[in-house]
Amino acid sequence: MSASESLADAVAAVGREMQAHRGEGQVADYIPALARVDANRFGLAAITCDGEAVETGDAWVPFSIQSISKVFTLTLALERLGEGLWARVGREPSGSRFNSIVQLEAEQGVPRNPFINAGAIVVTDAVLAGRTPEVAIADIRDTLRRLSETDAIDVDKEVAASEAETGYRNFALANFMKGFGNIHGPVDDVLTTYFNQCSLRITCRQLARAGLFLANGGKDPISGEQVVSAEHARRINAIMLTCGHYDASGDFAFKVGLPGKSGVGGGILLIAPGRAAVAVWSPGLNAVGNSQVGTLALERLAARMGWSVF
Ligand code: GLU
Repeated sequence: MSASESLADAVAAVGREMQAHRGEGQVADYIPALARVDANRFGLAAITCDGEAVETGDAWVPFSIQSISKVFTLTLALERLGEGLWARVGREPSGSRFNSIVQLEAEQGVPRNPFINAGAIVVTDAVLAGRTPEVAIADIRDTLRRLSETDAIDVDKEVAASEAETGYRNFALANFMKGFGNIHGPVDDVLTTYFNQCSLRITCRQLARAGLFLANGGKDPISGEQVVSAEHARRINAIMLTCGHYDASGDFAFKVGLPGKSGVGGGILLIAPGRAAVAVWSPGLNAVGNSQVGTLALERLAARMGWSVF
């Protein structure tokens, strides 16, 4: 193991090491359509700011983006609302489960951060503002298509319907915040948008490519597009580092030392500032709801490459 190892060699080595771990963890089953995913899948893709792309395993198989979509809606909302967004959502780790309602009562309907479900629903409300769910969903999808340079990203309608049918907690969170005046649009429209954004299907290769702007001060180093200001990119990375892994965010920072965002579909987007973006997918989750094998793979890759920001 050495920090001078090439990215291609490090990714290949991590891919080999993960073979023995395939299938570990529990596939999320609280959204019934997610429970049918093959637990043995493992894919990883990395792309550097110089455009070098490497991958291993099932890097070309689409999976459910779930909470990783919250990085991209936060990007859109910050560009639409600017600093005004922070009056409606905080930026502190919650220390509670991703779908918890307990802090909202004491904190007047202002969620702790944009990555717990309550905060993400506020962010989606900001992205929706004044538009129909169809238009907002297309905006989120098209942002991902543009950033990943592919048209092959779509909503999985079965997963979206499954989320809507079983989304009792998300309806509770949205209605509760509406009671505090922190959801402006109709709750049904906000949640339709939210369930659809979470149900986008994406591959590791596409996701790493789409997130690359965050490794390069908000500017896509390949297309040259300034996706967000450098200041917003810094803030998004800071929130990914402190809040991106539910109430195991501290543990992820301890082990990997980089901004990351996980989703219950088993994906994780990792940003190595100034260097690369990485996406990993392995559907089995640990007790906190983060991909078990994905976290291990990123820990090994970041260590091999000497990428920790600390
Ligand atoms: N759509 C999921 C939910 O709202 C997202 C959860 C996640 O990936 O954290 O429950």
